[in-house]
Amino acid sequence: MTALLEVENLRVAYGKIEAVKGISFTVQAGQVVTLIGTNGAGKTTTLRTLSGLLKPLAGKITFDGQVLNGTGPHKIVERGLAHSPEGRRLFPRLTIAENLQLGAFLRKDSTAIERDIQRIYELFPILGERRKQASGTLSGGEQQMLAMGRALMSRPKLLMLDEPSMGLSPIMMQKIMETITELRSQGTTILLVEQNAQAALSLADHGHVMEIGRIVLSGTGRDLLHDESVRKAYLGED
Ligand code: ATP
Repeated sequence: MTALLEVENLRVAYGKIEAVKGISFTVQAGQVVTLIGTNGAGKTTTLRTLSGLLKPLAGKITFDGQVLNGTGPHKIVERGLAHSPEGRRLFPRLTIAENLQLGAFLRKDSTAIERDIQRIYELFPILGERRKQASGTLSGGEQQMLAMGRALMSRPKLLMLDEPSMGLSPIMMQKIMETITELRSQGTTILLVEQNAQAALSLADHGHVMEIGRIVLSGTGRDLLHDESVRKAYLGED
């Protein structure tokens, strides 16, 4: 089976500092794949490069059968790769409904857009109840839901989520993780970056552990969850 996303020997630098030092991994359609690792491992840099926001130094990115290197961010969204960024990056003065509309900025099918907004409200009923509220007034968890909903509005083949659990209460985090499982069951492929290794590995089909720009360990979510070195380094066990 050919992969939906194939990353080969990707290298990314900020000036002279190489943040991603030649990583390779694939994401098959229908899977949840997670990148875990501590601060500064290069996870966000990897997602920003896949989105076209950063230019790679070297390597090849193939998405849905097409090479993405050099493709601009809008075209990448158009091809089906959406990004819910770290820190959410919502438009705080705009309402929930307006933020969702913006997620569909490349689409012209207004009836289908409206249907998809309703679908997001079904997925996250609280967003529907507060649709006219400015997004800046939402709680952290609600803002995370909105960021995910906005990314889904482009109808992505692959949804990239950067630290969706960041700053959330355990209950909110549970809700976000359940939603990821639900989206997968609806057929959405997900690339999940998380510092919460326990939560991410519990639901991922495959995981990769990143350390200072490299993938140091890969396996199924279950294998990594039970791996002794992962448990010591990322799950706080002695
Ligand atoms: P975090 O969870 O903190 O976001 P991460 O694994 O996503 O960690 P990156 O944000 O990708 O890590 O950072 C990788 C490395 O690149 C770090 O050493 C970081 O300091 C560096 N870096 C990130 N952004 C920039 C930038 N804009 N300019 C220079 N260096 C950067």
